[in-house]
Amino acid sequence: MGGRELEFVREAFDSNYIAPLGPQVDAFEEEFARKVGAKYATALSSGTAALHLVLRYAGVAGGDEVICSTFTFVASANAIKYQHAQPVFIDSSFDSWDMDVELLQKELHRRAENGRLPKALMLVHLYGQPADLDPIMELCEKYDIFLIEDAAEALGAEYKGRMPGTFGRAGIFSFNGNKIITTSGGGMVVSDDINLIKKVNFWATQARDPEVYYQHSELGYNYRLSNILAAIGRGQLRVLDERVARKREIFARYLKGLGDLPGLEFMPEPGYGRATRWLTCVIIDPEIAGVDRNKVMQELEKHNIESRPTWKPMHLQPLYRESPVVGGKVAEELFAKGLCLPSGTGMSDDDLERVIKAVRECFKA
Ligand SMILES: *Cc1c(COP(=O)(O)O)cnc(C)c1O
Repeated sequence: MGGRELEFVREAFDSNYIAPLGPQVDAFEEEFARKVGAKYATALSSGTAALHLVLRYAGVAGGDEVICSTFTFVASANAIKYQHAQPVFIDSSFDSWDMDVELLQKELHRRAENGRLPKALMLVHLYGQPADLDPIMELCEKYDIFLIEDAAEALGAEYKGRMPGTFGRAGIFSFNGNKIITTSGGGMVVSDDINLIKKVNFWATQARDPEVYYQHSELGYNYRLSNILAAIGRGQLRVLDERVARKREIFARYLKGLGDLPGLEFMPEPGYGRATRWLTCVIIDPEIAGVDRNKVMQELEKHNIESRPTWKPMHLQPLYRESPVVGGKVAEELFAKGLCLPSGTGMSDDDLERVIKAVRECFKA
């Protein structure tokens, strides 16, 4: 926690609003929208819920196809499946680890010729890295495709001076425990379209018709964020810049301490933007390094240091075996060789030195 969370939680208690609505929710939405540079925001119980309702707003339903980054966390794809639609996965590029723009362009062109354009595009900004938005937005405009940005991992990043999540028709963020700021669980939809925000909000509160009695004409969900958690979010929002700065400092330290190791490469940062370095991720080429990713993980574990493999691409998931994929080799390689180093902002410089030393030892043998 950052420092002021309890103060806002106390406000919530004093007002006695212990519910999925209230002044803390209103304030959090307003402050969040201002911080990221969107016109409107609505707070939900999770990033996944946010993706789900935005897809519904996009009109995605059974039989539709939605293009999605294959190199992502499963929630991006699951939200498509919740709407009974089919994800079509697209590979990443080595330059950003995000969606390969050239592959996307070719796929959309091919689909336009066959009259089979997707209903929406789910664009993921992975590990705090902004995807190349300008050409992607251009393609979405050209083919009239609804762009949803999954910015769950990229709060605080920049693309040409603006925050990812504010370029598409809607962007979503997550406040799950592992994200750069957290409410223990929670999510947000941002958009410049007030109708989208109102509709998402309506569905998230059980789709209750504006009558004095309980009447429902549409299927709704219980997806709103509690007033208590919104209070935590307000405190967290105030330390976001600090967190991004520390995440980037952690990355810089790892780069300094490990950058010379043969066969070890860091996630690049393309010239168009600024990553948050939410996690410091590397790829290890066993041919050159003489050690593979799994061995490094095991060795770190012996020092009681937890590290994780990068996300397993969606097209390799048993759950999405049947879904089409365009390319896939890049994401497969990033998965086979990728390692996420400990990147918590609570780590001290001594902790970082200890990790660096342990990684270096793996490369000595
Ligand atoms: C965390 C995450 C989500 C889901 O957010 P929750 O709040 O955990 O539901 C979606 N997409 C990506 C890329 C994520 O990392």
